[in-house]
Amino acid sequence: MTPIEEVEIVEVGPRDGLQNLPFYVETEKKVQLIRLLAESGIQAMEATSFVHPKAIPQFRDAAETIAGVKGTPGLKIIALVPNLLGAQRALAAGVQELSFVFSVSLSHNRNNVNKTPEESLEELKRIFDLPGMETQWTLRVNLATAFGCPFEGILPDDLVYEYTDRVVRIGAKVIALADTVGYGNPAQVRRIVAASLRQYPERHFIIHLHNTRGLGLANALAAYEAGLRTFDSSIGGLGGCPYAPGATGNISTEDLVFMFESMGVKTGIRFPQLFRASNYLREILPGVEFSSGVLKAGLPKGMWDGAV
Ligand code: ZN
Repeated sequence: MTPIEEVEIVEVGPRDGLQNLPFYVETEKKVQLIRLLAESGIQAMEATSFVHPKAIPQFRDAAETIAGVKGTPGLKIIALVPNLLGAQRALAAGVQELSFVFSVSLSHNRNNVNKTPEESLEELKRIFDLPGMETQWTLRVNLATAFGCPFEGILPDDLVYEYTDRVVRIGAKVIALADTVGYGNPAQVRRIVAASLRQYPERHFIIHLHNTRGLGLANALAAYEAGLRTFDSSIGGLGGCPYAPGATGNISTEDLVFMFESMGVKTGIRFPQLFRASNYLREILPGVEFSSGVLKAGLPKGMWDGAV
């Protein structure tokens, strides 16, 4: 018997998807979206971001959102944090995992969090030093712009390896390689993922992909074939700036689940319930376009008929 292959999908829509919207989504709608997503079988979710409310007003209700979803059965609640203060606020609010982000590209990191990567690493050390870190809470470290930067273009692979090495030495056990702006291609993804898994077999690697240039799922498959098993995705493919022509968001959760399940790879996510979450999202975001193919076209005939 061939072993059953499984992947883990981390839903990032409530954070990465909502953060680029030009309008505010009320807390109770965010809470309801997160609950519906959890009912579909999603077990890990970036629920919000503890950034300064002036930087991203969408998340001025971060603590209230966490209060609303805390204790959701079967759900690990993750929050994005750009610095120590954000980490402290997130832990006080009751999240189970922190997701710290910095860019390997100097210009992008300056633009995004107003720090050099060196300064971000110092901040990361301070977060690792918080009491209970890695015993009570997990700290995931995201290497943004790992596959290219909008200011500096394609970056050398060695830059990713250098920063992976540095965060591992600081104590990172969970590392996400992020194609923040959708520059990555399958050959590059396969190469970098394979080398990272080979170099650090004890660490847990995640890939965070955007579908900006249409290669999102191809890159996800390349990462899967290289041995990686945890993927970020966003409900509806939400994300990117709705006012920037052609900008698209993360790979869509519906499409990613469809790809894996139709290949016989288990995701633990059930489509009827996932569509309830997608439909709710459409309802609360009128006029917003979604990039999910499955959401537009539906599932192939006979697939998941009547399954709940
Ligand atoms: Zn992203």
